Amino acid sequence: MVFFHLILTDDCNLCCSYCRGRVLEGNAPWSGGRDVEIDWDLPSELSFDLRDLYSFLAGDPSACLTFYGGEPLLRVALIEEIMDNAPVKRFMLQTNGVLLSRLPAPYRNRFETILVSLDGTEELTDRHRGKGTYRRVMENVQELARGGFRGELIARMTVGEDTDIREAVRALAGNPVFPFRSIHWQLDADFSGYGAMRTFCEWARTSYNPGIRRLVRDWVESMEAGEGVRRWYPFLQPMQDLLDGRASLLRCGSGHANYTIMTDGHIGPCPVMAGMKEFYVGHIATADPLCLPRVAVGSGCSSCHLLWFCGGRCLYSQVMRPWPEQMRKLVCQTVENLHDCLLEVLPRVRECIRKGLIRRDDFSHTRYNGCEIIP
Ligand code: SF4
Ligand code: SF4
Repeated sequence: MVFFHLILTDDCNLCCSYCRGRVLEGNAPWSGGRDVEIDWDLPSELSFDLRDLYSFLAGDPSACLTFYGGEPLLRVALIEEIMDNAPVKRFMLQTNGVLLSRLPAPYRNRFETILVSLDGTEELTDRHRGKGTYRRVMENVQELARGGFRGELIARMTVGEDTDIREAVRALAGNPVFPFRSIHWQLDADFSGYGAMRTFCEWARTSYNPGIRRLVRDWVESMEAGEGVRRWYPFLQPMQDLLDGRASLLRCGSGHANYTIMTDGHIGPCPVMAGMKEFYVGHIATADPLCLPRVAVGSGCSSCHLLWFCGGRCLYSQVMRPWPEQMRKLVCQTVENLHDCLLEVLPRVRECIRKGLIRRDDFSHTRYNGCEIIP
């Protein structure tokens, strides 16, 4: 069974500071990264014959299709058409959440998982995603619940130097309107320039890493208090693997369990690698979804003692090497900290299982559902 992100459009209704906003800022990128040929002719809108998509997906009836953009809900009619006709039963949606109510409830309720972008508090979300964004997303989330959605709703945060990670996660988990049980976050580590590195370094040392340590303790304390296992993805999956003694490949699944269908029908390993032709693994018109070539993680990680835990973090960054070595090490230190914090509480988690406060099954989740896991 394979997971596919389907890019519907490059268009977006927001201009978030970590995404389009950054491009507009015009910061000079680090110039030591790898030159990769980009297909600048890649259409901005899905432009292939949908019959090719359906024939392709018919090769894997268990396939899971995630609508992705840009903002996929700018193309509601296309989503409905594909959900009506694609020969798969499992659909997911990754959205900024602002336009969720545009999709009629019978379609919304068919999603196994919806990931909405929220950064924690209203103030933080609106600072990065635009004034009023948080309120609109929360209204849509409430409507989603009222409309009968029973799938998994994951709040997906982007975390940068102005984020207090513990405060942000707790704000979502304890939200009075909709307490999010499922939360994922990823680091906004696309820093450029030495000044940005110094800020990130200081923030990681004094705020993020200690915040993760406290948050892991909060997580375990809630298990010990009989409140179950909160689905905080950067903890959930690695802890499940620690309990099972299992190593992991790249945890987002890119290039081995999760592929992306580009707007012209080419298949690549990851949505962020759209247009990077060198890494394409085929085209929907000719490929077999169950026999797609694997795209390996680069050698930068092969000698790392944490590879079994981390999986290589991010294929895109392995390929592009967007940071000088010093910056890469900083990001890897956050992985090491996460590993150490989880390892420290492993005996307490085992004790919770032994006492019957939680079950091993409580860590079960769908892998490759759009959560990259390692922030
Ligand atoms: S911690 Fe860093 S070097 Fe180690 S596997 Fe992860 S990304 Fe690679
Ligand atoms: S973690 Fe990296 S490789 Fe994986 S989906 Fe995100 S950008 Fe792509």
